[in-house]
Amino acid sequence: MTEGRIRGRLIRGVGGLYTAADDTGAEYVLRARGRFRIEGITPLVGDLVLFTPGRGEEHGWLEECLPRTSRLVRPPVANISLLVIVIAAEPSPDLLLVDRLLVSAGQSGFSALLCVNKCDLDRSLLPRIRKQYALSEVSVCGLSALTGEGIPALRERMEGEICCMAGQSAVGKSTLLNALCGLRLKTGELSKIRRGKHTTRHAELLEAGGLSVLDTPGFSLLKLDGAMEPEALRELYPEFTGSGGCRFSPCLHDREPDCVVHAAVERGEIDADRYERYRLLLAEVRETWKGRYG
Ligand code: GDP
Ligand code: ZN
Repeated sequence: MTEGRIRGRLIRGVGGLYTAADDTGAEYVLRARGRFRIEGITPLVGDLVLFTPGRGEEHGWLEECLPRTSRLVRPPVANISLLVIVIAAEPSPDLLLVDRLLVSAGQSGFSALLCVNKCDLDRSLLPRIRKQYALSEVSVCGLSALTGEGIPALRERMEGEICCMAGQSAVGKSTLLNALCGLRLKTGELSKIRRGKHTTRHAELLEAGGLSVLDTPGFSLLKLDGAMEPEALRELYPEFTGSGGCRFSPCLHDREPDCVVHAAVERGEIDADRYERYRLLLAEVRETWKGRYG
């Protein structure tokens, strides 16, 4: 490594000024070297970087972005490793959104965790969700940000990961983050801290209480690069694998004749609701795929 360079992680990037945090959590304000623009590289929040700190009040220089393990277009972030999807008894869960998020996570190659919050209000949701996702290989955990139930286990799971919380508004994401990191965010304020009313809303990495969590304002969907092949969708449903033997090959398991997935749904082995949502997502993926050059 070149003398004087520090390794850190980009936690913020606004108006051409980047903020990196080193191992100790100390923050440095940086500008990117001209080389980044010439090479067409956009530094992203979440990037591991090498930088030269500035002296005194001067900004330092962002020298290099290290290789990424994942990258999203919207929100524009790098290196997420764990997607924490939150649902709750109230507001009523949007499981199509959950499945969409699971597909994005699968495509991007990061793990996902499905959290059922507000267990103090309703104890019946958790077993219902566990049943629907039993064969999906997604871990489902029950939480109450209010009583603290499940919080230590979730914190342990999130340690060492770059996490992103996603889900409908009012499911309790900010309240959970408070409980997890010992932050004092006002509920509903997760995306508003350190932002003026009129500033553009940017993704930001919060490092608190030993956790790294991306604060991604106003987004509930993850947008990836490019269109997805319809055949790729079924690969992200572990409950469908090991179901070779459909009459058509390849079979998209969309009620084609003699489809073993559909037969397994009929027998109650694969959850019927999750299957119907798969078909909805498949129809969307097909539409997007058809229009991909348009
Ligand atoms: P966000 O929009 O997902 O960030 O949701 P908030 O964290 O703002 O929470 C929305 C509302 O749900 C607030 O009134 C919270 O106090 C409440 N809430 C959050 N977690 C729980 C919980 O575990 N149990 C109960 N009963 N209420 C909760
Ligand atoms: Zn099939």
